[in-house]
Amino acid sequence: MNDALRHIVQRMPKAELHIHIEGSLEPELIFALAKRNNVALAFDSVETLRAAYAFTDLQSFLDIYYAGASVLLTEQDFYDMTRAYLLRAQQDNVRHTELFFDPQTHTARGVAMDVVINGIWRAVQDAHTEWGMTGALILCFLRHLSEDDAFDTLEQAMPYRDKFIGVGLDSSELGHPPEKFARVFAKCRQLGLHLVAHAGEEGPPAYIASALDVLHVERIDHGVRCLEDAALTARLARDKIPLTVCPLSNLKLRVVAQLSEHNLLQLLDAGLVVTVNSDDPAYFGGYMNDNFIATFEALPLTRQHAQQLARNSFDAAFLDVPTRQRYLNEVASFFAGQVA
Ligand SMILES: [Zn+2]
Repeated sequence: MNDALRHIVQRMPKAELHIHIEGSLEPELIFALAKRNNVALAFDSVETLRAAYAFTDLQSFLDIYYAGASVLLTEQDFYDMTRAYLLRAQQDNVRHTELFFDPQTHTARGVAMDVVINGIWRAVQDAHTEWGMTGALILCFLRHLSEDDAFDTLEQAMPYRDKFIGVGLDSSELGHPPEKFARVFAKCRQLGLHLVAHAGEEGPPAYIASALDVLHVERIDHGVRCLEDAALTARLARDKIPLTVCPLSNLKLRVVAQLSEHNLLQLLDAGLVVTVNSDDPAYFGGYMNDNFIATFEALPLTRQHAQQLARNSFDAAFLDVPTRQRYLNEVASFFAGQVA
């Protein structure tokens, strides 16, 4: 990639739509919070914790991820974690972000729902006030737990309904198909919540189809395995169902052996509304611009692809019409000023 293109992908305005806020916890912050809260960690230093980030698959990552989240106890902890991510995202010219959070990871440890939501929410509000970044929260259900547990979680979150815009489905995909959560997603749909789900990361294309048909999701998180099913790919293109793709996550969790084998360009060529995202940036070796740069280095992507990806990120976001248009205008004027 030449310097001009690198500059473009770094500087262009963009939205991040697939970031698990607990996955932005850097080892240094995990240790700082552990000390503040007197939580014992199974790792004796930042270095040994970072060294444990050599994942072999989704499950080996999730085991460390839940251990890291154990240091989060107070509203200030959730605020500090979110604040650190938002500051980092701002450096990458992220203008809008939709944050996933996993309340069950915390409520199961005795941390109350209001502590979780209010801490994250306050950081998002401050980023808007201080530097104009827009943000929203998406509550994710852990799919390795039961649907009854998801219903309980939804009920606990309802007093804070004004602080989250939608629900998602994450954690261990294989063996936990979308239809397991049909009833709770139907309830969320009635409540007017936006709906998304992880599907087609490690799981088969059939999980993408059932996320659409059974859960009625508006976006697919990951979805990279859709290309194994031509009819499904055509459907995703026709219905403009966005995919929130996470290249460095796919590499780190061995969905692909190397980034040059990633199918992001084929997904774009198939006419899909592809976006680039960081997933769990502290664990997967990179934030937004790290993902863009690594992907543009590995694949024959151009300035036109960069512009498409920037536009897609705002098209796929849950924004009101004037705000979306304002961001699309920012993208257009940014690229009008570039000559590379
Ligand atoms: Zn994810």
